[in-house]
Amino acid sequence: MRHDAQGYWIAEAGLSGRAPLESLTGDRGADVVVVGGGYTGMWAAWRIKEREPGAEVVVLEADRCGFGPSGRNGGFVNSMWFSLPTMRAIFGDEKALTVARLAGESVGQVGAWCEEQEVDAWFTPGGYLQASTAPHFDSTWSAIVSSCEELGAEGRVEELDREATAARCASPLFRCAAYYPQGATVQPARLADGLRRRLLDAGVVIHERSAVRSVTEKGGEVVIAADMGTVRAKSCVLAAGSSLLRFRPLRRALTATSSHMVITEPVPDLIDELGWRGGECITDSRAMVHYFRTTQDDRIAFGWGGGRIVRGARLGGRAEIDREMTSQVAEHLRRFFPQLAGRRIDHAWGGPIDVSPTHVPVVRTTGERTYAGFGYTGNGVGPSQMVGRALASLALGVQDEHSRMAIVDPPRVRVPPEPFRFAGGTVIRRAILRKELAEEEDRVPGPITRMVSGIPERMGIHVGR
Ligand SMILES: Cc1cc2nc3c(=O)[nH]c(=O)nc-3n(C[C@H](O)[C@H](O)[C@H](O)COP(=O)(O)OP(=O)(O)OC[C@H]3O[C@@H](n4cnc5c(N)ncnc54)[C@H](O)[C@@H]3O)c2cc1C
Repeated sequence: MRHDAQGYWIAEAGLSGRAPLESLTGDRGADVVVVGGGYTGMWAAWRIKEREPGAEVVVLEADRCGFGPSGRNGGFVNSMWFSLPTMRAIFGDEKALTVARLAGESVGQVGAWCEEQEVDAWFTPGGYLQASTAPHFDSTWSAIVSSCEELGAEGRVEELDREATAARCASPLFRCAAYYPQGATVQPARLADGLRRRLLDAGVVIHERSAVRSVTEKGGEVVIAADMGTVRAKSCVLAAGSSLLRFRPLRRALTATSSHMVITEPVPDLIDELGWRGGECITDSRAMVHYFRTTQDDRIAFGWGGGRIVRGARLGGRAEIDREMTSQVAEHLRRFFPQLAGRRIDHAWGGPIDVSPTHVPVVRTTGERTYAGFGYTGNGVGPSQMVGRALASLALGVQDEHSRMAIVDPPRVRVPPEPFRFAGGTVIRRAILRKELAEEEDRVPGPITRMVSGIPERMGIHVGR
C-alpha cells in the first residue's frame, strides 16, 4: 500500500509531478487577490471573472493549486439539508432555508460547470445516503426530516427502511437510512485541476509556491505580502483553509482536526454484489463520521472523520500522514464490507479539516476590503462553490442573494485559545470516540464519558450535524 500526503486522486489524475507556476516576485497591482488555490479560492476567482471579465485577479497559492484538501478529499459533493435544524437554531427559518436551498443548487452547479467547461471530474449525481449502523442512530435524521417538512422543502430527504437501504448498498451494518437526492461524487483532484486550467484560460494570474505572510489594509488598498513579492489590490479574498488559523483575526474562529482515507484496488464484482451501482456517497450517522463511495475505476474509497486534533496551526505531520489512524480506517472499512477480505488497499492519505464552532461554513469580513471563507467541517466540496460566489460578490462590492446569505458575517462563536483548544479538544475527542463506540455496540456510555463529550454543546460549540 502506498501511503503519502497527496493521496490517490492526485496520482490518478497524473498530477503528482506537475511543475508549479511561477512564484510571485516583485511588486504589482491587481483588482482582487485571492489567497489560497483550493476550491474556495478558485471558485471565487472564477465567479469574479465571470461577473467582471476585465478584472485583474491574482491567485497566490502556498504550494500548488488543488494539492491541499481540495485535491485529496472524499469527493462527496453534498448539499446542506442535514444542517437545516442547526441553521434554523442559529439563523431562523427563512434564512436557514435560503442557505440550504443555495447549497443544494450548488451541487448541480458544480456538475453544470464541469459539463460546460468540458472538465471530466467524474461528476456522478447519485445522491447521499446517511445510514444507521446501530439502534442508537436509527432516528438521527428525524429533526432533519421534520425541519424539511415544516419549511416546505419536500423531497429533500427520504427515510428508507432496511430493505430500501440494502437495495442501494448491502453493507451488513446498515439498518435503515436517510437519502438526500441532492448529492454527487467527483474525482476531487480532477475538479481542482480543471478549475485551475480554466482560470488560466480566463486570464487569471496564478502564482504557486507563493505563501502569503501578511495581509494589511492601508490607504484604501489591501497589501498582500508573500516571501518574494507584494500585491496591492482593491480587495482580497482569504481562502487558505485550515491555514487561516495563522491569520490573527481568525485565530479563534475555527479549529483544525484531521481526516484519513484509504482506497481499495478495483473491486467491480464486489460493488455488483453489494448492489451499489447508483453512485451514492454514503456515511454512517456518527459525529466522527465514516464516509465511503465508489469510483469510476470501480474502487471503494473510505474515510473517517475521527482524526486527531491539530495543535495550533501545525497542519503537516500527523494531520497528513498518520499510520495509526489509517490502519484503523482500513480496519473500519472491512467492518462495513467484510466481503473485502483478501482484497488489496492501494493507497492511504489524509489532510486537515477546518472546523467551525457551529459546523456551518462562515464567510467573514475581516477588514474594510478583506473577506474570508472557511469552516466547512469536512463538507466543503459542494458548499465551496456557493461560498465562492458570495466571496466574489463581496470582493466586487455587489449585493446579491449570495452576499446576503446568513452565513455571511454570522454571530461570532469563539473557540478557546491555545493551549486549551488542543488539550481540551483532545480529551473531548477521546470521550466522543468512547461514547460513539458504546452506542455502536448498544451499550450505555459511562457518566464521565457522557459528561465530557457534552462539554462542547454546553459551550455553544456544535459537534456533529
Ligand atoms: C481526507 C479528507 C476528506 C474529505 N472529504 C470530503 C468530502 O468527501 N466532501 C466534502 O465536502 N469535503 C470533504 N473534505 C473537506 C474538503 O476537502 C474541504 O472542505 C475543501 O477542500 C475546502 O476547500 P478550501 O479551498 O476552502 O481549502 P483547501 O482545500 O484547504 O485550500 C486552501 C489552499 O490554501 C493554500 N494556503 C494555505 N496557506 C496559504 C498561504 N499562507 N498563502 C497562500 N496559500 C495558502 C493551501 O496550500 C491550499 O491549497 C475532506 C477533507 C479531507 C482532508
